[in-house]
Amino acid sequence: MKNLLATAIALAIFSVAGCATNPPAQSAAKPVAAPAYVPKFDPNLLSAEVKTLSSDEFEGRGPATPGETKTVAYVIEQMKAAGLAPGGELKDGKREWTQPVPLLRAEIKGAPKLAFNVGGKAHALTQGSQIAVRAPLDGAKSVAIAKAPVVFCGYGVTAPERHWDDFKGVDLKGKIAIVLINDPDFETGVGDFGGKAMTYYGRWTYKYEEAARRGAAGLLIVHETDPASYGWATVKNSNTNTMFDVVRDDPSATHPRLEGWIQRDLAVSLLKSSGLDFDKLKKQAQTREFKPVTLRNTTFTASYQVDSSVITSQNIVGRIEGAKHPDETVIYSAHWDHLGVGEPDAKGDRIYNGAVDNATGTAALIELGRAFAHGPKPERSIVFLNVTAEEKGLLGSEYYASKPLYPLGKTVADINMDALDPMGLAKNWSQSGNAKSGLLEEATAIAKANGLYFSEDPHPEAGHFFRSDHFGFAKRGVPAFSWESGDDLVDGGVAAGEKYRKDYTANRYHQPADQWEPTWTFAGMSHDLGVLYQLGHRLANSRQWPNWAADSEFRATRDATAGDRK
Ligand SMILES: [Zn+2]
Repeated sequence: MKNLLATAIALAIFSVAGCATNPPAQSAAKPVAAPAYVPKFDPNLLSAEVKTLSSDEFEGRGPATPGETKTVAYVIEQMKAAGLAPGGELKDGKREWTQPVPLLRAEIKGAPKLAFNVGGKAHALTQGSQIAVRAPLDGAKSVAIAKAPVVFCGYGVTAPERHWDDFKGVDLKGKIAIVLINDPDFETGVGDFGGKAMTYYGRWTYKYEEAARRGAAGLLIVHETDPASYGWATVKNSNTNTMFDVVRDDPSATHPRLEGWIQRDLAVSLLKSSGLDFDKLKKQAQTREFKPVTLRNTTFTASYQVDSSVITSQNIVGRIEGAKHPDETVIYSAHWDHLGVGEPDAKGDRIYNGAVDNATGTAALIELGRAFAHGPKPERSIVFLNVTAEEKGLLGSEYYASKPLYPLGKTVADINMDALDPMGLAKNWSQSGNAKSGLLEEATAIAKANGLYFSEDPHPEAGHFFRSDHFGFAKRGVPAFSWESGDDLVDGGVAAGEKYRKDYTANRYHQPADQWEPTWTFAGMSHDLGVLYQLGHRLANSRQWPNWAADSEFRATRDATAGDRK
């Protein structure tokens, strides 16, 4: 397991599909007329592509490895043969097949020196067991924080549209903020942040970003298993190894110098020594009246060296230019990367083949490209975006969305595919998370007309929506979702679907055993691709601009570019 963020991602994905006993969504279902042209998706082609991409020869498709070189060459060759044009970077007036993605790689050298100083006494902290501090992603070559004041800031949320501000004007410059994970209304289940369901304000990425905006020297998140939705082991493993980020123009605008988590017990005793009660403060933090509290006689100290460098990977981009509105774009996306070569499993296998995750999505992208290239020419352009470094934290998609090749204001939607089920036909489908949009309604209606009912994410509090490649688009306002294969199988129902998921999660997921199997029929995938084709086809041949639901945290961002879509 190279990246535990990704572990959380896929566990999330499979818990989504793992208990889809919910009834279909009601309101979204409007009748959809069958389109004049619906291509057939050949399961044999999907199988052959997955087999090649996940073969040992591709070395687990690690970014910036020989496996990447093979993968990029293969996908370009397939896209070309499918009839796509290059849609990548402009060079001398011509489009390349790729978009270079520079990635910052950072690692703490040795054991970091970390301590809380309480009443003049230093309490050294052990990295990995009491605290988990990430290598800095603000570009620093060393970290030296000396006796910084410590401020407890509740949930660390500023949400003007919800009239919520945990900071109340406190100055965090040069200070360390301590915050709680998830939304202020996670525990009560009712409130201004959608109750149990997690908004973006609940994600740790948001909390770091907000701390950076406020100029804090650092942010420490208190780990609690329920609101985090994973245990300390995940926090530890995903934060104390090599970190990656996209290369940003101003990294300190996104990352405070120190980013990390502390164990709940440590937070409790730290507050106690300042005469504060953790549970009481937490209760207060669940109200608008909460005010940040500076910890008496308490400071934080950190000191370590950093090994960092820039590596370059590639997003692969195919395109079909729209016949009538070439400047308006529908995007299909999927990540090509996986974990590469790593620790051997019990059989001594060191190649993490990533057949399901995500050779399936990459094959789907190629075949959707073929379908559009051979069908009627769409009015709007369609981009087939095969992104890198998902397993390192959704970085290829974040890079594209931060430096879009086609303007986001005129991007109709992003339809993402990650870890599709290569087995049989299902009766349902799902999306990661529960964000509502016109795009989701459209997908739901088309899927219904094709015999697939929609299953809601049964665990929206886990924030699955923020853990897939569509998210870089969503956060910038573009309607987006990740399609999840259904688990209510035509052959065997939910019981069979669950059995497959459980086996995959326990025995294959992020392990060398995620390999192509001759028994895979790809019947479900080829049916689902018919639905995704129709969705893209409708979007590409209409004047509609689906938007986020009125109460969505992404709505205002989308509305801000409404002028681009006149
Ligand atoms: Zn994946």
